[in-house]
Amino acid sequence: MRRWNGWGDEATQVELPAHGGAFLAERVGAGQRLADASLEQVLARVPQSRLVTRHPLVSIDAEVRVRHARGQSLPDWLAMRSGDFGVFPDGVALPETAAQIRELLVWAQQQDAIVIPYGGGTSVAGHINPAAGDKPVLTLSLERMTQLLDLDEQSQIATFGPGASGPQVEAQLRARGYTLGHFPQSWELSTLGGWVASRSSGQQSLRYGRIEQLFAGGKVETFAGTLEIPTFPASAAGPDLRELILGSEGRFGVISEVRVRVTKLAEQEKFFAVFLPSWQQALAGIRALAQARVPLSMLRLSNAIETETQLALAGHPEQIAWLEKYLALRGARVGKCMLTFGVTGNRAQNALSVKQAKRILRAEGGVFTGTLLGKKWAENRFRFPYLRHGLWEAGYAVDTLETATDWSNVDNLLNKVEASLRQGLADEGEQVHVFTHLSHVYGEGSSIYTTYVFRPGSSYEQTLVRWSKLKHAACQTIAGNRGTISHQHGVGRDHAPYLAAEKGELGMAALKAMAQHFDPEQRLAPGVLLKTHE
Ligand SMILES: Cc1cc2nc3c(=O)[nH]c(=O)nc-3n(C[C@H](O)[C@H](O)[C@H](O)COP(=O)(O)OP(=O)(O)OC[C@H]3O[C@@H](n4cnc5c(N)ncnc54)[C@H](O)[C@@H]3O)c2cc1C
Repeated sequence: MRRWNGWGDEATQVELPAHGGAFLAERVGAGQRLADASLEQVLARVPQSRLVTRHPLVSIDAEVRVRHARGQSLPDWLAMRSGDFGVFPDGVALPETAAQIRELLVWAQQQDAIVIPYGGGTSVAGHINPAAGDKPVLTLSLERMTQLLDLDEQSQIATFGPGASGPQVEAQLRARGYTLGHFPQSWELSTLGGWVASRSSGQQSLRYGRIEQLFAGGKVETFAGTLEIPTFPASAAGPDLRELILGSEGRFGVISEVRVRVTKLAEQEKFFAVFLPSWQQALAGIRALAQARVPLSMLRLSNAIETETQLALAGHPEQIAWLEKYLALRGARVGKCMLTFGVTGNRAQNALSVKQAKRILRAEGGVFTGTLLGKKWAENRFRFPYLRHGLWEAGYAVDTLETATDWSNVDNLLNKVEASLRQGLADEGEQVHVFTHLSHVYGEGSSIYTTYVFRPGSSYEQTLVRWSKLKHAACQTIAGNRGTISHQHGVGRDHAPYLAAEKGELGMAALKAMAQHFDPEQRLAPGVLLKTHE
């Protein structure tokens, strides 16, 4: 069963290994554990629904409302753990067809309710949290619309219900010999509609593309009618309407059908780990791989601190000591950086790609360790989010943030973001452990994904204040240094104050006009994406 107050399935536990605990204690101090609220305590706090009439597709059950009230950001985590949720949705609608979505939109209008489209609830930017206000809030969950509706094998286009989660998408496609190839780390719970609405990027975007490249068309139910977006391999017929929907974050309408470009399952897939002696050599290597367009399916480069942290948290200290010895003998010592890469395709092409990658990385001093570490990465790729529980139990809070910028600015922005976080709690005498990787690379630049670990304060309120200071410092640094406010997590409420820095006044006005066009009464997800609602 899915956890009501954290990530994933209740049956899966990932604990912080003893060695990892000692590593963190040395860097940020001994962990500090806050008490968790129980589900019973939270249920007792759920107020009566403000929806005055009933609808057969709308649940006002307290537990259903609790389970759809918050996403997965650190503030969401603190709300769920403390039991101080803030506002609960007044009801959760569970449509099964596009016609029912339309019916529910009309019903919401009659109730004078706010509507929040809800996919898997994995947002880490405050997208799906109801805000305080006079109007009742109806969360519209797509969790019953998960079917593969059509597979056009000639065109390799699949049509899905918007609520299909990663495993549901892949299981239905794999049964027919296909894959979507979209694997965000939240894959287990996030959905197709959510990926499109928040411009998601999967770990193998290098081969399959981001959701922007995979999204071929579909249908959107809006307060102004149904928007149909047909599929074309390419079109010069004016601006592309798909771009209106990508990143619309529920503000323009509810995506009721998604058409995606799919690929035949590959003959072979392999992942490798390489260690580069220094960050500068690693950076030169990954940039060269991207710009030579070596057909790899995934690339992830950890900076020296992330490499050290990953090895410490991996457990098995004896095996890691052996690995360190081997690497040192070959020139990768203190300051080394781990690069994981994958190849997916037919055997002959993969062999060529690996050969080309080896040549480029060896020129930068790369030490290859074979496929064992790569295999471990692939096995554990969706387990990392569970470690948040292990860290919390050990008394540490962890959060991540991400941006993207041109290669000429990657090093500068990365260092500034890390510094802003590292110094972010200096006024309280607290240390923050900060580390970064690059995992989506392009010819012209790269994403930058930073993780930070800090100690909770003595109360939930103080912990939230600590997070706010860190988040604000990092976002200001990003906005002021040519970074996008989000490469993959979207805008939501948390990043909305920084959006104007990259869209400009005219761009913001255009987006607001669009929201006004599709949703004249401004009922859909107010405050998300666009800060103000005027
Ligand atoms: C542990 C973890 C790891 C993550 N890793 C990644 C990653 O690797 N890459 C990545 O891109 N993101 C990642 N994310 C962020 C998140 O998973 C993505 O933003 C994802 O796309 C959200 O999908 P969802 O179905 O959960 O949407 P939700 O969180 O339910 O909603 C997100 C937004 O989309 C809107 N929405 C959802 N469905 C619809 C619909 N049918 N119609 C209209 N609007 C809709 C919502 O209103 C909301 O504004 C991660 C999050 C977590 C917690």
